[in-house]
Amino acid sequence: MSSQAKPDPDDESFFCQLCSTIKFSRSDFREDNAGATTPSSPWTEPTHTQSHITPQAASLLRSPTKRQVHAQSTTISTSSMDELLNHSVEWPNHPDLFPPLAATATPMHVHAPHLLPAPPKPHHHAAALRFTVAASAAAPSATTRKAVIVGGGLAGLAAATHLTSLSVPFTLVEASDRLGGRVATDVVDGYRLDRGFQIFLTAYPECRRLLDFPALRLRPFYPGALVFSGAGDGEKPSFHLLSDPFRLPLRSISAAFSPIGTLSDKVLVGLTRLRAAATPDNVILSSPETTTARHLEQLGFSPSIVERFLRPFLAGIFFDPALDTSSRLFELVFKRLALGDNALPEDGIGAIASQLAERLPAGSVRLNSRAAAIDPYSGVTLDTGEIISGDLGVIVAVEQPEAEKLLPQLSNREKPNKKSAERSTVCLYFSADWALVEDPILLLNGSGKGIVNNMFFATNVAPSYAPAGKVLVSVSLVGSFADREDADLAEEVVRELGGWFGAGEVASWRHLRTYRIGFAQPDQTPPTAPAGRDPRVGDGVYVCGDHWCSATFDGALVSGRRAAEALAKDRGLSS
Ligand SMILES: Cc1cc2nc3c(=O)[nH]c(=O)nc-3n(C[C@H](O)[C@H](O)[C@H](O)COP(=O)(O)OP(=O)(O)OC[C@H]3O[C@@H](n4cnc5c(N)ncnc54)[C@H](O)[C@@H]3O)c2cc1C
Repeated sequence: MSSQAKPDPDDESFFCQLCSTIKFSRSDFREDNAGATTPSSPWTEPTHTQSHITPQAASLLRSPTKRQVHAQSTTISTSSMDELLNHSVEWPNHPDLFPPLAATATPMHVHAPHLLPAPPKPHHHAAALRFTVAASAAAPSATTRKAVIVGGGLAGLAAATHLTSLSVPFTLVEASDRLGGRVATDVVDGYRLDRGFQIFLTAYPECRRLLDFPALRLRPFYPGALVFSGAGDGEKPSFHLLSDPFRLPLRSISAAFSPIGTLSDKVLVGLTRLRAAATPDNVILSSPETTTARHLEQLGFSPSIVERFLRPFLAGIFFDPALDTSSRLFELVFKRLALGDNALPEDGIGAIASQLAERLPAGSVRLNSRAAAIDPYSGVTLDTGEIISGDLGVIVAVEQPEAEKLLPQLSNREKPNKKSAERSTVCLYFSADWALVEDPILLLNGSGKGIVNNMFFATNVAPSYAPAGKVLVSVSLVGSFADREDADLAEEVVRELGGWFGAGEVASWRHLRTYRIGFAQPDQTPPTAPAGRDPRVGDGVYVCGDHWCSATFDGALVSGRRAAEALAKDRGLSS
């Protein structure tokens, strides 16, 4: 194609000329395996010229290399980025909109170093942290006026962090034997198993305020996904690379000729991304809301891109395949994906909670202490009958169903006639001897068949997720699958992924563990209040948690801060 030619955006056949299909065979990757290297340069947001494409992106997008998908006879449709980029619209390259990604081999770039606490704290393993907290949890002094925080997830930890900074004494009671709530990592035989697939988005503003990013040693995902489109009768399985339309619209456009959506879908993704990135949070959070499914339709996305990419992608985020989740949440997450990196801490997602927990005053935490009743005037009664004094106030930082048990007045306030929707997931981990894809990329099931929603080779993102020489495979399903035993589910998953990669390639995977997360997220169907509700729910009683804001790490942290600020203000302990 002449570089002078102007593409007609309505003429898909024009773009199809740019399309090339690369086929890989088992012998291809066998040869290549030894020579494959980890890229030393990050994925950077491309501008409008070809020269900005990193070698890594180029290999993913167009080069007929042999290191892409390590499956027998797997097909990846790619495109000629060179030619397309010569005709691409120019996208702003403002550093705030397109922060640079870090090298995969080194800790991630910090976007807001001035916001970080200094000096960075030394790293601790979650297990070590548990020991420290438990060991230091002495009985609180009876003479000091205190607040009580019920629940030690991110919301409770944020509340505790802010009370500490306001010099307000407190006792945090946590029902389980560790802090972090839904954000947890188990170390099993040297494998780091996050309790459910979770991704840290570096653009979360509250996380930037509270967390020491360098100490988390964040490892980025490739900002995009490899979509498995299925395998027809006698046909080879096919995968299509979609660069993250929220972070890398140009690369997304480069996939214009893939069968995942139409050309106008790709342009629309870029435009929607720019709009979201430029819209202040308060505008997003107070805009008229509908369901995400309806919103995508109103935005003009075709059924093809919804079914093959957006639905599986968003279902994996909201655990809501029907996409009934509020359009406000979609826009908010869309914006965060556009403005930051997707990453995993080297020590697992639990490191986020561990970092907050490390900063709490010694003796302020009581593990294995379940609150059974809240009394605004005396504090909290544990299920053992013990009363924890909370004469400064009680912050209830438990998950939604438990909050509604402790404070029945919270139940279904906004949706009296509606049963909360189930938001469940199952995450299965396998040990393997080699990764079938070499890049730190999420693989999405866009075939519309099977039970797998997404999978990835966790050790491609963070090698620390497995012992040396081993590969950790993470597979996520959306739903509870309550009717199936763990062993049957694991078998079914391996069988299904055999259809993606070849049965022989997955036959040796060893099932490590299955996590069933019945309550993964609260109901976020309209009407919602993701900007956050007033934490004051009664005299001296405050509520926080992701159900009180948005069901994200950031939402939980924001809600915890607001509860602590409200308590301190009401007691005249802050300005
Ligand atoms: C599988 C999965 C994937 C996710 N992925 C992402 C993601 O990629 N990005 C993102 O931003 N968010 C994600 N989330 C959402 C995020 O993890 C949550 O929104 C957030 O962690 C909620 O924190 P919380 O403090 O509100 O609640 P929780 O973490 O549930 O904390 C509540 C705490 O209260 C304790 N508790 C309960 N009852 C009592 C009681 N009676 N007495 C004392 N203690 C009690 C619990 O043991 C728990 O520790 C994901 C969640 C899950 C489950």
